[in-house]
Amino acid sequence: ARFTVAIGSMDILTLENVTHDFGSTRALDSLSIGVEAGELVCLLGPSGCGKTTALRIAAGLEPLQAGRVLLDGEVVADADQDTPPEARSVGLVFQDYALFPHLTVVDNVAFGLRKLPRRRRRERAMAVLRQVGMAELADAHPHMLSGGQQQRVAVARALAPRPRVMLMDEPFSGLDVTLRHQVRDETLHILKQTGTATLMVTHDPEEAMFMADRVVLMRGGRIVQMGTPAQLYAAPANEFVAAFFGDINRLHGVVRQGRVSTPLGELDAGRLPEGAPANVLVRPEAVRLHPVDGDAASGARTGRVLASRLLGRSSVVHLVLDNPADSGSIQADRAGPHVHARVPGRFLPPENTCVEIDIDPYQ
Ligand code: ATP
Repeated sequence: ARFTVAIGSMDILTLENVTHDFGSTRALDSLSIGVEAGELVCLLGPSGCGKTTALRIAAGLEPLQAGRVLLDGEVVADADQDTPPEARSVGLVFQDYALFPHLTVVDNVAFGLRKLPRRRRRERAMAVLRQVGMAELADAHPHMLSGGQQQRVAVARALAPRPRVMLMDEPFSGLDVTLRHQVRDETLHILKQTGTATLMVTHDPEEAMFMADRVVLMRGGRIVQMGTPAQLYAAPANEFVAAFFGDINRLHGVVRQGRVSTPLGELDAGRLPEGAPANVLVRPEAVRLHPVDGDAASGARTGRVLASRLLGRSSVVHLVLDNPADSGSIQADRAGPHVHARVPGRFLPPENTCVEIDIDPYQ
């Protein structure tokens, strides 16, 4: 039966129409997601959108109420059954690494290998510790390790039994920012190297884009959009998705003869009807700045620089557009909309200067 169900599906983990209530709160509303072999899928969304509940149901830590969960094409939870977590072959990693304090690192990793003969357990645990670069600390106790090292051991422990799928809930959020970047980089490396299918929860869009082959963006227990990070970033399904992936400029426009005229110039209106009001969303990196009387497109607007902030490789320039009805004026009380522009780090227009502003149509 296992193979007949699996035909036509590459999914290692499938959640099918999973609905879940806590009292009168609907935490998940007919959620369906799949994780393919070797794939890393991130569940992303604001607090309370149901990410952790979905992961716990996949793990078997939360009893299924409605829908189905399949692992490798085999039903592990539906209306008739609910396989307990230890029988599901899933690796779990949570924010608090939850290592056993009285066991050494290698014994922590060997803990889930009870099915192997005793001698093989240590061998296998050491092999995984080598993979995560922790073999030298095999005989240390958890309290002797840094947070990053503990998290690496937690990943090793979850990987040691070669689970069908890894389930990780905010695995890096207990670490400070430098360590977080390092450990997530190492974790991605090892998951890809071992080809382990992974479902990971995060509320951090940057982390999701760094880690995920595919992102499932959720709100209110439902999927808002699912796709590669590039798809969600470049072709957001709606304003919520666009705004979730970072800074965005919101401009009001009106459709006139197939074009939307906005305070930053004209754009193609697509299929919007004539006369319709349009909300135009422009990423800061698509906003171009030019010296006044420079090479901006004709009709480019002028604005005043409120602040320029270097953010490393790029800078963000905060601008206020000049009011078109009052062009030439830079008085704040006559000001038009505020706009953010992201420009290469070396170009920092000084505060209080005027610049010409337009939209890069290719961004
Ligand atoms: P966060 O990022 O804050 O962890 P989340 O997206 O993981 O949020 P869940 O923890 O899955 O969201 O919660 C989804 C909804 O279900 C929320 O409204 C939450 O308050 C509710 N909820 C979750 N667990 C329980 C519980 N054990 N009892 C009652 N309500 C719960």
